[in-house]
Amino acid sequence: MNNFEHLIDTEQIYQHAPSGYLSMLPDGTIIKINQTLLDWLGYQRENVIGKLNFSSLLSKGGAIHYEMFFRPMVSVNGNIKELNYELIGAGDKNFPALISANGVMDENRKLLAVNMVITDITQRNLYEKELLSAKNKLQSEKTRFELLADLSEELIWTVDYHGEVNYFNGRMSRYFNLSRGDAVTSILFQHIHPEDRRKLMQAWHGTDKTLDPYINRLRFGSEQKGYEWFEVHLIAVNDLAGDIRWFGTANSINHLMMTIERKDEFIHIASHELNTPVTVLKGFLQLMKYGLPAENMNNFISKCLATVNYFQFLIGSLLNVSVINSGELALNISSFSLEELLLSCIEQASALSNSHTILLQSNVNEIFVTADKERITQVIINLLNNAIKYSPGKKEVLLMATLLPDQHQVAIAVKDYGVGIATDQLDKIFEKYYRIRETQSIKGLGLGLYITQNILMAHGTRLNVETKLGEGSTFSFIIPVA
Ligand code: ADP
Repeated sequence: MNNFEHLIDTEQIYQHAPSGYLSMLPDGTIIKINQTLLDWLGYQRENVIGKLNFSSLLSKGGAIHYEMFFRPMVSVNGNIKELNYELIGAGDKNFPALISANGVMDENRKLLAVNMVITDITQRNLYEKELLSAKNKLQSEKTRFELLADLSEELIWTVDYHGEVNYFNGRMSRYFNLSRGDAVTSILFQHIHPEDRRKLMQAWHGTDKTLDPYINRLRFGSEQKGYEWFEVHLIAVNDLAGDIRWFGTANSINHLMMTIERKDEFIHIASHELNTPVTVLKGFLQLMKYGLPAENMNNFISKCLATVNYFQFLIGSLLNVSVINSGELALNISSFSLEELLLSCIEQASALSNSHTILLQSNVNEIFVTADKERITQVIINLLNNAIKYSPGKKEVLLMATLLPDQHQVAIAVKDYGVGIATDQLDKIFEKYYRIRETQSIKGLGLGLYITQNILMAHGTRLNVETKLGEGSTFSFIIPVA
């Protein structure tokens, strides 16, 4: 080996090594420094050797640390490893550095000199900073995503490549009563309607091959509590490691599915309802064609008229719904005598029923109100018809008008002593096509209260209900005095 010694220029290596080298006396006087460190610091050798103290190359905080820690450690231990200091050079040639030091001792362990290796870690600090900022960015993106996902009314979850659910949002946790750490995958699976499980599994196995989104309508819930319809979107994505993972969302479409179901039922009822008066009318006309005894004629004509009126009422309801649907329910506001209107409503509603008497209770004589007269008539007649329909076997229905203490508003109420409405049905009776199962034997399209509520809402008011099952109901609303 010694034969190659002449090829190695140790001084050259020392001077231009990728690290800085510096030697000093125990009091800090610099006695040797390599070119690399001089370049980093921007100093000339002649201004440093024997002239500068090592502590003058340190920041203020660094110099204190050097006195309190560095020097005692080197004196006692003989070495020190990778301490982080800010080195101060000429001009603005400062840089962060890692310093390791070895003490040169005599046989009595007296410190004679200190040799140091200095590494510039500017780049490393930059990488660390970038890494930290990337990490922070990722964390804040994650927090933002989770916050948004928690605000969403949709169920949102992700599944890892083992098929395990590894994230679910707040709505999902509330819906399935999930906590972090639960065996979420199996809990979810148990909550899928048995008929839909196979459907989902087949699709699941397909999505990871094609990466196509999967969209389907599934039922979530349980046998005891019942099932609700959801539209489920699943998409498989290859992550950076090349593993498949899935993102899933589900939004409730129960309302939509119920409406579709109810609409089918409605079409069935409506065609039946429309067909009945036509058949009845046809029967009357045929009888008339074959000649009727003159004394029966009036009676027949009245019956025909009543049937035509009912037919007109049904068609009117359908037309009203289409006007409401298109958002074109326009009002024709005027001032009119309330009492006259109430009497006219009683007359019209009584013509459709001879089973009940409608009693008027009013303290609004001579009062004029401001509203769409025709529409308010329709509202009151709807309410009176319902009160009569849903109080079979009773004799009376009340129509009440009360001037409120502020003298600016009138409350109009229709009271019956009929079947009443269960509390859990109260928010549904105003929905389109909705009919309470228990009263389905009584004729109706499930549109009356929907139309009534919409007319009142267009007037800026609402229908109020007080009811007790088996005892009767009172529907009321308020309109302004002219
Ligand atoms: P329809 O009477 O044609 O079914 P409505 O929209 O007028 O439709 O009423 C919706 C449902 O509300 C009815 O099916 C009935 O069950 C209930 N309902 C309405 N009015 C009364 C009432 N006065 N008493 C008891 N139930 C009522």
